[in-house]
Amino acid sequence: QRRFFVGGNWKMNGNKESLEELMSTLNTASLHEDTEVVCAAPSIYLDFARSGLDSRISVAAQNCYKVAKGAFTGEISPAMIKDCGADWVILGHSERRHVFGENDELIGQKVAHALESDLGVIACIGEKLEEREAGTTEEVIFAQTQVIAAILTLLCLHHCPAFQSKLSGRIMFLFPSFTVVHKNVMDWEKVVLAYEPVWAIGTGKTATPEQAQEVHERLRAWFRANISEEVSDSLRIIYGGSVTAANCSELASQTDVDGFLVGGASLKPEFIDIINARA
Ligand code: 13P
Repeated sequence: QRRFFVGGNWKMNGNKESLEELMSTLNTASLHEDTEVVCAAPSIYLDFARSGLDSRISVAAQNCYKVAKGAFTGEISPAMIKDCGADWVILGHSERRHVFGENDELIGQKVAHALESDLGVIACIGEKLEEREAGTTEEVIFAQTQVIAAILTLLCLHHCPAFQSKLSGRIMFLFPSFTVVHKNVMDWEKVVLAYEPVWAIGTGKTATPEQAQEVHERLRAWFRANISEEVSDSLRIIYGGSVTAANCSELASQTDVDGFLVGGASLKPEFIDIINARA
């Protein structure tokens, strides 16, 4: 019952000419109707991507800041992303975590503000090679997931005062400087969880279908045990890391793999095959 979700993360690649060509290839392609397709453009090209892609394809930003506006040179807000016609933002990507030093506290604050602004969030988690080799994969990804879940739990239940003080306590423990302004009742429908093992990103070393399924299954079990059966059943958990036309079908056939977040291959015509991996 989970709709297959394929995101293309263009990262800091392309120019107007090459992206125009990519978009016209996508626009004329036959895309499986049951697949939700999102392209994450560099922020300066959000408008360009929205006007260049047809309505079957949504647009995402690759990052945003944690507040609506102000003196934050170089940053963009969820409101601006929405103003450009985009519906999603990628947050917590491994390149933001490891190249730009974003920590769980900042990522949590960004997730909270994006959801409060009614932007969908593609929330990324994943272990580094040394963490996998040390046998701490679960510990790492559960801790990253816990941060996102704590935000969601607080936002979802904000209307229930009995829970609120308890949860605020929990979140204050996680993020001592955290404050949340509650506006809307939130739920998990606006979140897609992307499992992207850092060792598989841009390396050509894809997780095997068994490795991906194992982690996705454990994540789903984590949601069942810590959040709810309903969220566990409905949350889309997508895989990212060297996904190509050649390996996507087998990955897509795994029970708990609900789609992909694609980097390099999303800039090529083979992205269409990845979109249609379940067709
Ligand atoms: P690659 O598909 O290039 O490995 O990148 C994956 C990724 O980081 C998507 O967000």
